[in-house]
Amino acid sequence: MADHYKVLGVSSTASREELKSCYHNLVREHHPDKSSSQDGSNFCQIQEAWEVLSDDNRRRQYDAEIKAAELKTVHPVQEEVSLHEMLFDQDLKQYQKSCRCGGSYVFDESDVCEQYLLVDCDNCSLSIVVDCIHKSS
Ligand SMILES: [Zn+2]
Repeated sequence: MADHYKVLGVSSTASREELKSCYHNLVREHHPDKSSSQDGSNFCQIQEAWEVLSDDNRRRQYDAEIKAAELKTVHPVQEEVSLHEMLFDQDLKQYQKSCRCGGSYVFDESDVCEQYLLVDCDNCSLSIVVDCIHKSS
């Protein structure tokens, strides 16, 4: 996955104003019309990074994807599942999925947000990542 923040040379907490000024500086530097070097591909990356990060919805989703990738590197993640693959218990208001060890992954309806959720098995050390972002699809 391309690191859009690195491309623009900003931190992941940069404000929209910071992003904008870095983007404008880079565009001035790398624009294909002005540059004689092989900066064409660079310019595309800058353009793509800006398109994602300047759009609040796309940025939020991109941030969530980065976070999920980070989670997977520190936890032994068994699999990635989408929310509609989980069983929903109407009485308990909980989502459930059974683990291969016989235990289960459980989380409350209230935990669901526009994020990837890391859920631990209640019996072993495995975890799953639940995709709550693309729940409508
Ligand atoms: Zn388990």
